[in-house]
Amino acid sequence: MPSKEEFVVTPYEVRGRIDYARLQEQFGTQALSPELLDRLRRAAGGELHPLLTRGVYFSHRDLDRLLAGLEAGRPFFLYSGRGPSGPLHTSHLLPFDLCRWFQERFHAPMYLQITDDEKFWVRGGLSRADTYRWGMENLADLLAIGFDPARTRVFFDSRSIGVMYPLAEEVARKVNFSTVRAVFGFSASQNIGAIFYTALQSVPCFWPSWYAGREIPCLIPCGIDQDPHFRVTRDLAEGLGYPKPALVHSVMLPGLLGERVMSTSGDQKDNAIFLDDPPAEVERKVGNAFTGGRATVEEQRRLGAVPEVCSVWALWRGKFASSEAEFQEVTQGCRSGALLCGECKSRLVPRVQSFLAQHAERKAAARDRVEGLILEGSLRPDGSGPVVRGDVPLP
Ligand code: SF4
Repeated sequence: MPSKEEFVVTPYEVRGRIDYARLQEQFGTQALSPELLDRLRRAAGGELHPLLTRGVYFSHRDLDRLLAGLEAGRPFFLYSGRGPSGPLHTSHLLPFDLCRWFQERFHAPMYLQITDDEKFWVRGGLSRADTYRWGMENLADLLAIGFDPARTRVFFDSRSIGVMYPLAEEVARKVNFSTVRAVFGFSASQNIGAIFYTALQSVPCFWPSWYAGREIPCLIPCGIDQDPHFRVTRDLAEGLGYPKPALVHSVMLPGLLGERVMSTSGDQKDNAIFLDDPPAEVERKVGNAFTGGRATVEEQRRLGAVPEVCSVWALWRGKFASSEAEFQEVTQGCRSGALLCGECKSRLVPRVQSFLAQHAERKAAARDRVEGLILEGSLRPDGSGPVVRGDVPLP
């Protein structure tokens, strides 16, 4: 495993122990400062989402500008996406949980992108039918989070291409191969689908402005590993006449097996809690999870444990602590040695099981909403833009 100095973070690879302060410096992003969070809290009506107060989201680009626009009466829309290559796990929900909160607090339209084409291009071993099927399945999971159907639409790449393509053409004309190669580290043997994909990922950032014929700011909550995609998008935004999208970035939460991020490719299925894991699997996975505990009970009582390296703490932090008070109680109990790992895990397991059971019910209900939210359409006869099926929510 690479040392702390050798971490790698790209949209296609995350490895090593990430030094987030250094990463922020390398990427040129800004810290989510207490002052900025206070400003967001006031704009949101007095509260922040726990992902913001617990530091899971730690960095941003132009959130201050977005808030200034909001204060001046310019509302924004939200965009986030999913590359469908398999079932979702709890870490995948980080951007969508925050999007839902923004939607609720600011009545913001939400555009979800399902990049089934990208996964087909970059993941060997998956057929088009596979990525399509996972796309539909993942979409039902994401809608189950509770997005407002009246304010939510979906770009499902292989189905929405008719409404996306005219704008993708405009974007693609502005992105040259050397930029894409430098940002993503593509080699000469990279298939050309992945190279073109950057244009498609930019489309939802500009689409509402393009469709409405006026500037509508975009906010993208995403993992810091996805930042390079949007650096390209931001660089070409103003040249195309659209506002640069603002971003808020999350850390990469560690997987259950230890220091690795919550990657689940290959033999790493035990590295995460999947949304369709049965109760016994949850118990087994949490029971085996890597912790920041000490070698013996006596040592842990005396020295306390280390939550920052613990995959169980990451679950409390990212999703399952029901209040700030409970999160602080777990964290302080862990640090002080008052809470032992066995007890901590036993407390978490029913919480996760209950969430998954409720999620399954919400997902079953959400399946009926999937079809109606996918944007589809075709070009106008004069080629000027798409005729879109159904209403488009614009702020
Ligand atoms: S007490 Fe809980 S949070 Fe602390 S190291 Fe053990 S399992 Fe992790």
